Amino acid sequence: MKLTQIKGIGPKKAELLQEMGIDSVEKLWAYLPNYYENRSILTSLVTALDGEKQYFQLEITGQVKTYFVRRNMTITRVSAKDETAKVDLIWYNDRFSPQRLEKGQTYKFFGSYNKEKNSMPNPIFCDINEDMIGGIYPIYSVIRGLSKKDFIKFKDRMFENLREINDYLPEEILDYFDVVSLDSMFRIFHKPKTYFDLINAKRSFALRQMLIDKLANYMTKKEDDSFIKFELIDLQKPLSVLDFKLTHGQTTALKEIEKDMISTKRMNRIIIGDVGSGKTIVAVMSAYIAIKNGYQVAFMAPTEILAIQHYENYKKYLKAFSIESRLLIGSTSNPDREIILESLERGHIDIVFGTHTLFQNKVEFKRLGLVITDEQQRFGVYQRKLISQKGDSPDLLLLSATPIPRTLALTMYKDLDISIIESLPSGRKKIESYLVTNSYEKRFVRFAEKQMQEGRQVYVVCPRVTDDEELDINSVESIYKRYKKYFQGKFLVDILHGRLSPEEKAKKQEDFASGKIDILIATSIIEVGIDVKNASLMIIYDANYFGLSQLHQLRGRIGRGIHQSYCIFVASSDKVDDEKLKFIESCQDGFEISKKDLELRGAGDRLGIYQSGFTEDSPMDIYDQSLVEKSNSIVEKLINENQLEQNQALRSEVENRLLAYEKVILN
Ligand code: ADP
Ligand code: MG
Repeated sequence: MKLTQIKGIGPKKAELLQEMGIDSVEKLWAYLPNYYENRSILTSLVTALDGEKQYFQLEITGQVKTYFVRRNMTITRVSAKDETAKVDLIWYNDRFSPQRLEKGQTYKFFGSYNKEKNSMPNPIFCDINEDMIGGIYPIYSVIRGLSKKDFIKFKDRMFENLREINDYLPEEILDYFDVVSLDSMFRIFHKPKTYFDLINAKRSFALRQMLIDKLANYMTKKEDDSFIKFELIDLQKPLSVLDFKLTHGQTTALKEIEKDMISTKRMNRIIIGDVGSGKTIVAVMSAYIAIKNGYQVAFMAPTEILAIQHYENYKKYLKAFSIESRLLIGSTSNPDREIILESLERGHIDIVFGTHTLFQNKVEFKRLGLVITDEQQRFGVYQRKLISQKGDSPDLLLLSATPIPRTLALTMYKDLDISIIESLPSGRKKIESYLVTNSYEKRFVRFAEKQMQEGRQVYVVCPRVTDDEELDINSVESIYKRYKKYFQGKFLVDILHGRLSPEEKAKKQEDFASGKIDILIATSIIEVGIDVKNASLMIIYDANYFGLSQLHQLRGRIGRGIHQSYCIFVASSDKVDDEKLKFIESCQDGFEISKKDLELRGAGDRLGIYQSGFTEDSPMDIYDQSLVEKSNSIVEKLINENQLEQNQALRSEVENRLLAYEKVILN
């Protein structure tokens, strides 16, 4: 089937879809919702919960009337009822859509009923036989010019006309391991009937991601037993100029690294440690060893922001030991880029900090001895391939993004050696955490002001960049507007999110680090590894939309200096009872938090499913022990059965995954 064969998709709509990256039916079914909204539980007016959006069936009892209140302001009203009560339906500045409500007819409504005023502001509605309300509703982000309703209609029509989607996994495997078939999985994502189905489908999705990655890893694995045998280097000097002493965990990790490096095998190690446990300096010490042995080091970060930060933090330190460092990122422009590339090739640069662009074809090293990868799992699979393409066999050191228990680590990183840094440097002040609702905004904004008057800086985090008409979620844009007004002439407010250009992102990061920006409103892009010691307050709006481990990572951005720090978790109005949020308010131990995270997910975290769909920011459920074990077993079985050679569909799925990584990395 071609896209344009779907009723409603003409050349114009097809073009819009293409702009969203959807140029085939396959891409259309793989385009997943960002959120799900629970519109499934039918409620009566009398039993409705105040302030919570719910589903009602209401009969219209009057005529729709519009009042022009002032310029740019209309109020449209109509009265309605169910068996239990009467209610006023009110729309602000929307005088057209309610016009089609007819007296005497019953419709489905989704809105929040205000008992005190006996009214329902801005409810959405549909005919009684439509399914926009009455189920679990997927919310997609779509491009301007295309409505969400249209998009869902296209999806519906596609699935109606689609024969079954072929599965690359054999049926015995689906049955034996209880994996949801590809066809059911995508149909469920698009139109879940129950949360149970959705959870199952999501777990199967995660499982598939994992096992395809593992197979890709297997396919790129070459029998290569070359290694570098480094000489032992005395670290006394570089360690003595630090203004702290390594913790026990750091020292142990460093010993394990030293042992790997001087041995006759290639180091392939991951350091797992909580946010702030000081993984970076351990990695820098291993770089020191490699460099003093005459080798070069590539230090790779997941984002440009982080690469810049590492470079800025360590360049002077390294220089003091005659180590030449440079930064090479996507936004490094000519002629700097040319010069850096040439110096790397000639061996004049000892350590280069950057993102995955360090593995682009043009980058050549003279003697690459060690590759360090910070906070990165996603391209892990592909790294080996890229590195071996460079013709070297450097040691490999990974720094983990998430603290996970040892047992899970052993299952997840089967082919890596593991160092775990259990505890944080002593003397860190506890971050005071508070769980509140939006109604406290005045108070915490005033608190932010006080912090800034004392010279501190503030992070504000929102789940979304822009508002969505269907969701009550604070966005970076709307908070920015509010805060700017509030702090005008007093403090500099700015924003940071993934849609800005790399140059803009880097600039804002620098400006925040240097103290020019006082209050930074951002998406979870600031999640990873950012280190600004002067920041003492973090406000996280709609915190229930983030995962537990993610919230912990976010909170880890503050409390990095000498100042007492505070984290305010702002729950969406009806979510203060959220178990997850209550837990994180009282617990600060990353390993404990990740355990709880697993437990909640294991229990089928209804809320997690309810709130988040498939945003880029929230990676899938990959920290689930049983899921990881299952994927290991499946991979083993597939390999034993020679499926990679015999099953063309499976093989191309794996190859496509590799191509996708390659595209991201080598673009
Ligand atoms: P993460 O493990 O989250 O990457 P970092 O490496 O960014 O943590 O370290 C966090 C902060 O703690 C840095 O400012 C670093 O200089 C500091 N630090 C690292 N090790 C120690 C230590 N042993 N004692 C005190 N501070 C330390
Ligand atoms: Mg870090």
